[in-house]
Amino acid sequence: MTEISAFAAEAKLAAGNYKRCDHESALCYAVEGVVEKAHGWKSLPKTELALFVDAVCDAEGIDSPEISHLRRTGNVIASADIEYHSIEFRGSTANVGSVLHEIAHLTSGASNHGIAFRNEYLRLVRRHASLEHAAFLHAVMRSVGLSVAPWQAIN
Ligand SMILES: [Zn+2]
Repeated sequence: MTEISAFAAEAKLAAGNYKRCDHESALCYAVEGVVEKAHGWKSLPKTELALFVDAVCDAEGIDSPEISHLRRTGNVIASADIEYHSIEFRGSTANVGSVLHEIAHLTSGASNHGIAFRNEYLRLVRRHASLEHAAFLHAVMRSVGLSVAPWQAIN
C-alpha cells in the first residue's frame, strides 16, 4: 500500500463521522482532517487570523469578509456565508487550512464542496500556505475519488 492510499483509506473511514452533510462534503472534510493530522497547519490567534484573511483577500482581489467569532460547539470549526460575504469562526483561533477553506467558498462562489470549490481551495493553499500541503491535499482528494483539476492546472 502506498502512503497516499493509506491516507485515503483513513479519510474514507473518517468520512463516516460526518453524518450531517452530503457524502462529497464528508469526504472533503475527512481529507482535510487527514492532512491536518499528517502535516499540521499553523494555528492563528484572533488578531493574526484577521491579518491573514486581509492579506489573502487583498492578494485575491476581493473585499475582506466580515469576520465573527462564536463559542465553539460541536465539531463545526467555521462557516462562510457567500451572500453576506462573511466568515464565522467557532472559537478564537483557527488554523491556516480552515481559514483558506472558508475563503475558498467566497472566492469560488460555491457554498458546497464540489469540484469548483476544491480546485479553488487547492489553489489558495498552494498560493498562501505551502506547496507541500497543496500537493498532499490534491493527492489524497484524488485517491478518495474526489475529482480535481490536474496538478499543473492548480496555480
Ligand atoms: Zn466548507
